[in-house]
Amino acid sequence: MRTIGLIGGMSWESSAEYYRILNEGVRDRLGPTASARCLLWSFDFSEIEALQHRGAWDELGDLVADAAQRLEAAGCDLLLICTNTMHLLAPRVDAGVSIPLLHIADPTAEAIKSARLRKVGLLGTAFTMEQDFYKGRLSERHGLSVVVPGDDDRAAVHRIIYEELVAGKIEPASRTTYREIIARMVEDGAEGIILGCTEIMLLIGADDSPVPIFDTTALHAQAAIEKALD
Ligand code: GLU
Repeated sequence: MRTIGLIGGMSWESSAEYYRILNEGVRDRLGPTASARCLLWSFDFSEIEALQHRGAWDELGDLVADAAQRLEAAGCDLLLICTNTMHLLAPRVDAGVSIPLLHIADPTAEAIKSARLRKVGLLGTAFTMEQDFYKGRLSERHGLSVVVPGDDDRAAVHRIIYEELVAGKIEPASRTTYREIIARMVEDGAEGIILGCTEIMLLIGADDSPVPIFDTTALHAQAAIEKALD
């Protein structure tokens, strides 16, 4: 089994889910006492969040690239960045290590294509919904068409992530808000919904959407299991 390096703590609420999914997945594949070989680098998310909202992406790039190099030096065979947003820095991180970095958008896109869908709605932070690093990869590499919520809805999705989900708060009113936003994206033609922030799966499940959902946390962790056991 290969050793999986997790660049996490963004937030730890979702890193804990990665840890659980990796271990359950290895147990399912190898037997009841088997578990994932992994190392977790866990940031203090308050520092990361402050830098994100200041637009200090160079500094964030230094921090994440440094974490990746430490995990490689500690013996990891592959790397995951356990957040969609911080994939903005994936090219920088990838360039600084010689082990593979599994990009979170790729297993997500593969699952969407396997379901024979082409047009998907994207929920995530404003960085993920508004910039091109994520949508561009889905469309250019995978041929998918991506819709995002309108201005007010994007602001609500972003606010709920940073004020609630990363702080471990699961509010029924926010679930209702997300359900309404999902319904509007479906009206705009979305045939599936990407939970493109690794904490959204704490709030939203298949029952909250009239179309299939694609949980990036689970899909990313499952891809890592495949690679680790390959
Ligand atoms: N975990 C989130 C994501 O998947 C948001 C936290 C962050 O900004 O890294 O985008």
